[in-house]
Amino acid sequence: MRVLKQARQMSLTAQALRRQARSVGFVPTMGALHDGHLSLIRAARRQTQVVVASIFVNPLQFGPGEDYERYPRDLRRDLNLAKAAGCDLMFAPHVSQIYPSGACTIVEVEGLGEQLEGASRPGHFRGVATVVATLFNLVQPTIAYVGQKDFQQAIIIQRLVKDLALPVQVRVLPTVREADGLAMSSRNAYLNTEERRQASALYQALSAAKEHLRRGERGAQRLVESMREVLDRCPLLRVDYLAVVNAKTLEPLTEARGSVALLGAVHVGTTRLIDNVLVDVS
Ligand code: AMP
Repeated sequence: MRVLKQARQMSLTAQALRRQARSVGFVPTMGALHDGHLSLIRAARRQTQVVVASIFVNPLQFGPGEDYERYPRDLRRDLNLAKAAGCDLMFAPHVSQIYPSGACTIVEVEGLGEQLEGASRPGHFRGVATVVATLFNLVQPTIAYVGQKDFQQAIIIQRLVKDLALPVQVRVLPTVREADGLAMSSRNAYLNTEERRQASALYQALSAAKEHLRRGERGAQRLVESMREVLDRCPLLRVDYLAVVNAKTLEPLTEARGSVALLGAVHVGTTRLIDNVLVDVS
């Protein structure tokens, strides 16, 4: 596996791959790789000729007081894991490679980035959209692989690609979970034993609401209440938001119909966790 640290090197390599008409699968990450990231790399390995991943802890998507400084970083471990999963090329740039001095252009996906995660983390999706657009331009992937775990982010990336006519296909792959249902996340490493034990309640709450939906409940308010009931049993968890939205537009629903996304964000101690499940309600 080659490791590239310069944006220019990445760009020249991407241009060469394009000339050779090789399909490129791309997995952007912030590192601290786990099985969720590796499932994306493995999918790219199966479906494309050249697999590129990136590790870049993007300062632009962290708000003041968030965990940018303490975000887990272990490049050597990540390189070994990525290589074993079938990655051919790792792009691991320094911040100055992505945002050279004088950089002042931002990408904003209006509307979709303002509710849910965007409401709790103002400016977050502007940071995501800006870095993703830059990475897509440098890597020039044929297919980009993202996780359903960050559902709103996936929707925003799809919108960005469409609106800017970027020549890349975006594939959203299912959330990889721990045995108790907790969605894998680099931030799970922050949890102490008791926090870790209670953290799986977020998925249990979403699953409980999904079950209510299956049994015929359509009222969004009542679905949210069913989630809250589960979470109330866990004293270490503090709800940020629980939502029932249209899975395509992210618009809040009063009645669950069509493609529905159930989403939640909770604080567990100083750690913030998100998760979601999708349900088709015919
Ligand atoms: P991150 O390193 O958190 O920025 O995530 C990089 C990519 O991996 C994003 O597309 C995430 O949605 C995806 N991802 C993170 N956690 C998971 C998971 N548990 N299952 C599947 N994909 C994930």
